[in-house]
Amino acid sequence: MIEIHSKALNKTIQVDRIIGKYQGSEEGPTLIFTGGIHGNEPSGVFALKTVLEELKQSGIPCRGNLYAISGNLSALEKGVRFDKKDLNRQWTKENVRSLHQGSYNGISDRNEQIEIHNTIEKILATEKGPFYFFDLHTTSSETVPFVTINDSVINRKFTRQYPLSIVLGIEEFLEGPLLSYINELGYVAFGFEAGQHDDVISYENHISFIYLSMVYAEFIDRKDINYLKYHHHLEKQILFSDKFYEILYRYEIEDNSSFSMFNGYRNFQKIRTNDLLAVNNDREVRAPMKGHIFMPLYQGKGNDGFFVIRSIPRFFLRLSLFLRKVYFDRFLVLLPGIKWASPEREALRVNLKVARFYTKQLFHLLGYRSRTADKTHLIMTNREGASKMGDYKNTAWFK
Ligand SMILES: [Zn+2]
Repeated sequence: MIEIHSKALNKTIQVDRIIGKYQGSEEGPTLIFTGGIHGNEPSGVFALKTVLEELKQSGIPCRGNLYAISGNLSALEKGVRFDKKDLNRQWTKENVRSLHQGSYNGISDRNEQIEIHNTIEKILATEKGPFYFFDLHTTSSETVPFVTINDSVINRKFTRQYPLSIVLGIEEFLEGPLLSYINELGYVAFGFEAGQHDDVISYENHISFIYLSMVYAEFIDRKDINYLKYHHHLEKQILFSDKFYEILYRYEIEDNSSFSMFNGYRNFQKIRTNDLLAVNNDREVRAPMKGHIFMPLYQGKGNDGFFVIRSIPRFFLRLSLFLRKVYFDRFLVLLPGIKWASPEREALRVNLKVARFYTKQLFHLLGYRSRTADKTHLIMTNREGASKMGDYKNTAWFK
């Protein structure tokens, strides 16, 4: 047991690796929530604890299982993002493989990762699907709540149920988030950013999000809770009616440079090309394109100065679902400069010298994301191949 303090609620609670578990009276899905992968984000942990207590007291009929898992316990206790390593950047395939080899006493973040990994493996081995993973976060600056997903059909179909903005493609810019690892196992898995770390509304947003998630995953029925209250609580905060956004650009801050955003930029605010956004090492930083500013860095450290996102027109969303359904990507390898990267055909190797005319957008439409690149080649990875679509085929949201 460790103690976690919430500044927003002025409250301290004790938690373990498993914050709580709730088993329904009938068979059904397995929901896994993680909170506090970043230790300075206790809001999700508090919300999970609250909802579990409410479930137990109310006796709402449930189907399946719900697990609430805490993230970086030692960092949560100290109220810091992490000890030595960011626990949400350690889930690359190579890293996870090496978890099974040797011990890592002394590096607490590594021990935390081993424990979380073992907990998840055990749940996957003992419980029945369909499985759903929800990763609860908060941000350094104030923001409306939003969802981040890796762009797979199952993630899109599931998350479009929420009255929230959904941002696709963040994994192209981040190495090793927990959710990408779970997505590669084939499950519905995505992140929820509830608001500023120490704001009470982030806690309330987490509560609403958890209740809606339980309904959408068919763990509880909407008639058994005050569904409209939770739905409306989130819906009233969104700024634009567009649902899906794609990340187009990331401003990277190099180590030891002095970056400062101009005051007053709010997450999702519209920007025009050349708008003055920040100053880095005494140089002006201007918007490279029009769109919406996303995650402007106001507090804390990090290498992401800001992102630029743009809403995806509905036509493209539908077109891409269709193209993925008919496996249109099988034809891409007929084009010059594009080959399968491996016999498993889960990634394409794109020669930029030859294939520079095909835009990234084309690959995005087909569910590919660029991962690693050397000077002349891009590796475009497809997540659809791994998706366990069959597990979800009998759910209302997938049909
Ligand atoms: Zn976080």
